[in-house]
Amino acid sequence: MTTRTGGCRCGNIRYDCSSDPMAVSFCYCHDCQKASGGPFCNYAVVPVEAVTITKGQTQGYAVEAASGNTVSREFCGDCGSPLFARNQNVFVLTVGSLDDASGIPPTIAIWLDSAQPWAPIPDNVERFRENPPITLDE
Ligand SMILES: [Zn+2]
Ligand SMILES: [Zn+2]
Repeated sequence: MTTRTGGCRCGNIRYDCSSDPMAVSFCYCHDCQKASGGPFCNYAVVPVEAVTITKGQTQGYAVEAASGNTVSREFCGDCGSPLFARNQNVFVLTVGSLDDASGIPPTIAIWLDSAQPWAPIPDNVERFRENPPITLDE
């Protein structure tokens, strides 16, 4: 078990994560495209209890995802960096918010049915047209 640290761009929000990710996704759903401003979101799936915010407080908003579930997305209100997303089943953190994400390459690519035709998809990941069976129920 590794404790990783992370935070937003401006440094007003910091967190610790005490668990290795259960999965690391590239999600190409329309919602993630809007939320990231790019062709996908890169998320690490971790147990919600593994994350402790050590500085600051996130802001958030809730949206209804393609599945009909409500997804809450949390970000820094000062610099706007996306940090966390959650629904009733799954908690994820943005891989780019980690101080060192070198050890956690993507393992799954999801919502490929919504991907832009030019979006890059990593090799050697499990691919799903929509949600994978167990996690990332967006
Ligand atoms: Zn910030
Ligand atoms: Zn998504």
